[in-house]
Amino acid sequence: MEVILANPRGFCAGVERAIAIVERAIERFGAPIYVRHEVVHNKFVCDDLRSKGAIFIEDLNEVPPGQTVVFSAHGVAKSVRQEAEQRGLKVFDATCPLVTKVHNQVACMRREGMEIIMIGHEGHPEVEGTMGQSEGGMHRVETVDDVQGLQIATGVRLAYVTQTTLSIDDSQQVISALKQRFPDIVAPKSDDVCYATQNRQDAVKTLAGRSDLIIVVGSQSSSNSNRLREVAELRGVAAHLVDEAEQINPAWLRGVNRIGITAGASAPEILVRRVVDSLTDGTPEKVIQLEGVEEHVTFSLPKELRK
Ligand code: SF4
Repeated sequence: MEVILANPRGFCAGVERAIAIVERAIERFGAPIYVRHEVVHNKFVCDDLRSKGAIFIEDLNEVPPGQTVVFSAHGVAKSVRQEAEQRGLKVFDATCPLVTKVHNQVACMRREGMEIIMIGHEGHPEVEGTMGQSEGGMHRVETVDDVQGLQIATGVRLAYVTQTTLSIDDSQQVISALKQRFPDIVAPKSDDVCYATQNRQDAVKTLAGRSDLIIVVGSQSSSNSNRLREVAELRGVAAHLVDEAEQINPAWLRGVNRIGITAGASAPEILVRRVVDSLTDGTPEKVIQLEGVEEHVTFSLPKELRK
C-alpha cells in the first residue's frame, strides 16, 4: 500500500499564533489561563493546552474576577469584548488576523450604510463573531436556496463577506447567486476565504487524483477539515475525518492501494505522522510527499507575549 501526503497540510499561521498565545500567557502569568471557546478546533491541541494549565470556557461569567482570558482564533462579537472590559479581565486576543480583517470590513461597510450578507455556517463561532461586529443590518446565508429566501427592503445598499474556511467552490456558487439576485452587491476588497483554506483545498484536489481513499486528520468541530473531506468526496474519492490513527476503521482499507492523507489547518503534524506510521508500519519507502505551494505567512504575537 502506498501513502501519499498532500502539501500543504496542517497548521496555518493563525493556528500557530493562537496556540503560542495560550502557551506564552501560561508561561508569563502562570496557570490557570482561561480560554473562551476551544482556541482552535482540535481535540489533541486543546487537551495538550489543558494539561499545561488552560481552562476552556464558553461564557465569560465562568472567568473569576481579575483573571486572564484568551479569545479563540475564531474571533468574538463586540459584545464579548465589551463584557470582558466591563469585568476588568485581562484579555489576549488570539483572533486570526485574517478574521480580524473581515471584522474591519464589516465595520467599514456598516459605516458606509450598507447591509451585509455573511456567507457562513450557522452556529460556527467565527460566524457569530463576525455577525456580532454590528448590532443590526447583518443577514446570514449558507446555500443558494438561502439567497432566494432573503428578505431585503428595496433601496438598501448591500455588501457581502464570507467565513474564512468555506469550501471555495460552494462559496463561489452562493456568491454567483447573490450577484444574480442583487447585481449591485458590493464584494469585499479581497477574498475572505483565507490562503490556508485555499491552499489545502487545492492540495486535496491534486491528492484526490492520485488516491483510492483519503484520510483527513482533524476534529469533527473543525470547519476547514470538514471542507477537505467534502472536496475529496466531490472528486469521487471516499474520504474520512479522523482525530487520530486509532479511529481508522480497517474496513475502509480493504482493496485500497493508494491512501491520500491531509490535515486540517488546526491539526498538528504529529497526528499525521502517527496515521502514516500506523498505515505503513513505520516503512518510509511507502510514503510519497506531493509537491505544493510553499507557505511563508507568519503573524506576530501581542507585544506583551513576545520573548
Ligand atoms: S484557517 Fe485561515 S482564517 Fe483560520 S486561523 Fe488559519 S489562517 Fe486564520
